[in-house]
Amino acid sequence: MLFRDATLADGRVRDVRIDGESIVDVGTGLDDDGETIDADGKRLLPGMIDAHVHFRQPGFPHKETWLTGSKSAAAGGVTTVFDQPNTEPPTVDAAGYERKAELASASLVDYAINGGVTDDWAPEELLEKPIGALGEVFLADSTGEMGIGTGRYEEAVKRAHDAGVPITVHAEDAALFDESVIDRTDPDAWSAYRTAAAEIEAIRHACRVAADLGARVHIAHTSTPEGVEATSEAGMTCEVTPHHLFLSRADLEELGTFGRMNPPLRSEDRRESMLRLLADGDIDIVATDHAPHTRTEKDAGIWDAPSGVPGVETALPLLLEEARNGRLGYDRIRDVTAANVADIFGLEHGGRIEAGNRADLVLVDPDASVPIRGEDLHSKCEWTPFEGRRGVFPELTTVRGCVVFRDGEFADVAGRNVRR
Ligand SMILES: [Zn+2]
Repeated sequence: MLFRDATLADGRVRDVRIDGESIVDVGTGLDDDGETIDADGKRLLPGMIDAHVHFRQPGFPHKETWLTGSKSAAAGGVTTVFDQPNTEPPTVDAAGYERKAELASASLVDYAINGGVTDDWAPEELLEKPIGALGEVFLADSTGEMGIGTGRYEEAVKRAHDAGVPITVHAEDAALFDESVIDRTDPDAWSAYRTAAAEIEAIRHACRVAADLGARVHIAHTSTPEGVEATSEAGMTCEVTPHHLFLSRADLEELGTFGRMNPPLRSEDRRESMLRLLADGDIDIVATDHAPHTRTEKDAGIWDAPSGVPGVETALPLLLEEARNGRLGYDRIRDVTAANVADIFGLEHGGRIEAGNRADLVLVDPDASVPIRGEDLHSKCEWTPFEGRRGVFPELTTVRGCVVFRDGEFADVAGRNVRR
């Protein structure tokens, strides 16, 4: 397959030839000996590697399944996902890993299965499995009540470091949550309760512990500029979610409990700072924390509604809309959605359009901006916190050279475990 005259992330216009699972040539005037796709005027980008999704299986198939989650991924230009361990059973031992691996084989896109840490985890057998990362390690309870103490965290960092496995941390310190707001019932109460200070302090602590052990950690879903600064000062890496880039506490009146997630939405000032840090290159990657729940589950009081929002299908489209409006460069989008992710998580031959790399590609018409509608998306939950905002969606997505999504249609292609 040949993409003719595609504009790459850095602005060069090139032909890109695929043979089998790989990109074999990037050049000009290349011969076409199979299907040729006219990419004139279009952007060809490496597929997004989403280092943080919750596809909910095993345990919660009414929220999402590997099939629906991976369709949502493919339609949003995501070609690899890292699935988090807070399923039921949790992925904390060999049996939990095997159970998830069986279900994950239904995925349309490639995937990695993360291993979790709880007080009754089985580190030896878990680390013998080809896990994507150890994490997200929860320093405070979130969906699944997997919060652990400092001693267990130190043990996890040490073991992951020794095993050469990346470790990712959900950093919030429950001791710094603001108990004085628990009588409030408005949707902003969740943001007031899970304070910015609780995240910032937990990030500093998590980075300090890792640095003392000579290890490196990756901080998940950083929602504060202070947290980003603490991470880079410690020489660690971090991610930001689309909801912390594009939504703030100012949106909670409209979103209600559908805007509840961990860490919670922050002030408009902090949101703007996060977007600036991303554009300036101070945030390493974007990961979605795709965490679907049904409408019925979300439609509850602020203290009872589950935390989490879907996002795997809208992340790249929202970023491409920023590029369309000149606020973010395509090369920066390539770095934060693909190249940097491949580097941090050790995915060889991934994240860049170069000869010899995996043919995980996304073709987009950069001007094809449309309003985002929950009913048009493919997640089982059928809603989005970005309803009515604009996004630029892919026309075509390939995973290792196979077209898995094209003009609204999905191919019947199975993804595979990238760590296998
Ligand atoms: Zn988390």
